[in-house]
Amino acid sequence: MSNYHLTQISKNAKLGAIPATTSAKDTCAKACPFFKNGCYAFGGHVNMHWEKVTKGERGGDWAHLIDELKRKTYPTQIWRHNVSGDLAGDGEAIDADKLAELTKANKGKRGFTYTHYDTIENAANREAVRAANAGGFTINLSANNIDHADKLAALDIAPVAAVLPSEYEIGKAETVADYKARLETLPQTTPQGRKIVTCPASYMPAVSCATCKLCAVGNRKTIIGFPAHGASAKKADAVATQ
Ligand code: SF4
Repeated sequence: MSNYHLTQISKNAKLGAIPATTSAKDTCAKACPFFKNGCYAFGGHVNMHWEKVTKGERGGDWAHLIDELKRKTYPTQIWRHNVSGDLAGDGEAIDADKLAELTKANKGKRGFTYTHYDTIENAANREAVRAANAGGFTINLSANNIDHADKLAALDIAPVAAVLPSEYEIGKAETVADYKARLETLPQTTPQGRKIVTCPASYMPAVSCATCKLCAVGNRKTIIGFPAHGASAKKADAVATQ
């Protein structure tokens, strides 16, 4: 049985001071090519916390998570599900009942998350994600690269976020102005012409999800791009440029 944890006020600078959950490592979708292969969550403090949640040293079962969400998140509040981990399920099939429960617990609030579960081949997963988004819980479909982003966006059930090649990352000595000028020289649309918005928190320390909120917009058509970065950037980059 998987374990889950809610942090009521996150200290993660990119998230800002919002509630954030972590789901055990066994929730990760088998379709995710970044598992132990470039996923940012397998490093640093995020992984230390994730390990404790996975081993059951922090948090509790699903019922505990739902109870915590009902008591510790507030109407209209933005909150992030799964800083690490994926939707409840067996790795191949999303647990639609648990997702419906989560969607209900989110009523009136602005929860958002991402999933690597397959929604192209798996019709039941597609329906579960569609229903959650229709019910106000925003699930971004996670694309491995911008070609994949077009395929996921064409499903027309959810907003899409994609990993971008590491050339989209701001350089260590680069100013934001110089970076923005360089960004304009890189493709700003997917192969099928969908607009890519690079996550502003990836290059502006003053921006966080708490202030940006773009990923919580359920009817968003733009693709949010996350430049491959960090210790595992090379591996993530290899997937993003496939
Ligand atoms: S685009 Fe905005 S909401 Fe999405 S991850 Fe970046 S800062 Fe957070």
